[in-house]
Amino acid sequence: MRLSHYFLPILKENPREAEIVSHRLMLRAGMIRQQGAGSFSWLPLGKRVLDKVNRIIREEQDRAGGQEIIMPTIQSADLWIESGRYNDYGREMLRIRDRQDRAMLYGPTNEEMVTDIFRGYVKSYKDLPLNLYHIQWKFRDEVRPRFGVMRSREFLMKDAYSFDLDYEGAKAAYNRMFVAYLRTFARMGLQAIPMRAETGPIGGNLSHEFIILASTGESEVFCHRRFLDLPVPGADIDFSDDAAIAGVVDTWTEPYAATDDMHDEAAWNALAEADRLSARGIEVGHIFHFGTKYSEPMGAAVQGPDGKEHFVSMGSYGIGPTRLVAAIIEASHDEAGIVWPAAIAPFDVALVNMKVGDAACDRVCADLYDRLRAAGLDVLYDDTDQRAGGKFATADLIGLPFQVIVGPRGVAAGEVELKDRATGARESLSPEAAVARLGARP
Ligand code: ATP
Ligand code: MG
Repeated sequence: MRLSHYFLPILKENPREAEIVSHRLMLRAGMIRQQGAGSFSWLPLGKRVLDKVNRIIREEQDRAGGQEIIMPTIQSADLWIESGRYNDYGREMLRIRDRQDRAMLYGPTNEEMVTDIFRGYVKSYKDLPLNLYHIQWKFRDEVRPRFGVMRSREFLMKDAYSFDLDYEGAKAAYNRMFVAYLRTFARMGLQAIPMRAETGPIGGNLSHEFIILASTGESEVFCHRRFLDLPVPGADIDFSDDAAIAGVVDTWTEPYAATDDMHDEAAWNALAEADRLSARGIEVGHIFHFGTKYSEPMGAAVQGPDGKEHFVSMGSYGIGPTRLVAAIIEASHDEAGIVWPAAIAPFDVALVNMKVGDAACDRVCADLYDRLRAAGLDVLYDDTDQRAGGKFATADLIGLPFQVIVGPRGVAAGEVELKDRATGARESLSPEAAVARLGARP
């Protein structure tokens, strides 16, 4: 992509409304635009990151046995009346009337609708386990939308729903999602720690929030330092092996970890001082087993091997892709701007032409642009007539992993400069060597 043709509305000034660094940087880098309270448009640069985040989420949901669907945002109130949640949900739910004066709502979540799909088709235990997910906009009329896309009113959610014959099956399904989440966040360069969460009237211990440590997090969290070194399973992990998957979950639930509301002072104080990590955290995902909470009132049952009808045992599994983008920035930035982890960077390389109009610089850049792309890289080519200082500031601000800087002096010597955004390391090398180096990266 040529920057001269790209819609990248960079802000020079720090926007006054932005209280936290991710919000500030997302606005300054032209990733998002606020449209109203808790409502944002995603501009081209932001949309690219969001797509990469969604792609990783999809790949890991699919690997763990999920099947993607897409359900509407607008739902009929009838389903929610059936489950008993229509009145309980409260003012976070946006209630709407259509022209026939039917009660509708903008979905804050989809348990009811997916249970309705399930009961319409699935009648036998032989069709289980089943896990259906979608990535869809949600609306929650939050009391205090703030911090940009971190807590907005309209936001994207990946929500998966599992259906099993009994608790044992549901627990295995829960464990698969648990492991999928470990992989999902690790692939985004994040260290997410699963923490026991409230199960309310459902009881049991199958509820975990996945938390990223960051000073601007809304929750106070407590965990064992060991989490920082626990291994995340590789792509070859076998999701059909319930025992192996349960083993991973055991490893990741054994050390102490709790958010504020689940914190157990006695257990915490029993840890050695040096092992205690108390910090602030951002919730990026939440998995929850709720048994027959919806299947029973909504009549979602299958015939079991015993010939009897069984209400299916369910769980739901949420990730907030839009919040995640902000959380990743909170975890990875410096004074100059964003530092994208390679897997979700909007482009792989910024190609900076320091002297547009100089025949030699233009020629080397045009050639590099073609060859880097031929090597499979996404390149943002700064071919604008801005001065060099402004170009460097933009490249640092938008945080692409590498910059290839082409100036007249280097070109005369047959060299370009390669800058690693994360470390700041710079190196002069031939254009060919730069292509070879960047193209060889995984
Ligand atoms: P919170 O406690 O932060 O309000 P929640 O418990 O209401 O979150 P869930 O219902 O579990 O969240 O939703 C699943 C995921 O959706 C969350 O882990 C989070 O990543 C995302 N999410 C929830 N509310 C918002 C919001 N207002 N803005 C952006 N993302 C959100
Ligand atoms: Mg909430």
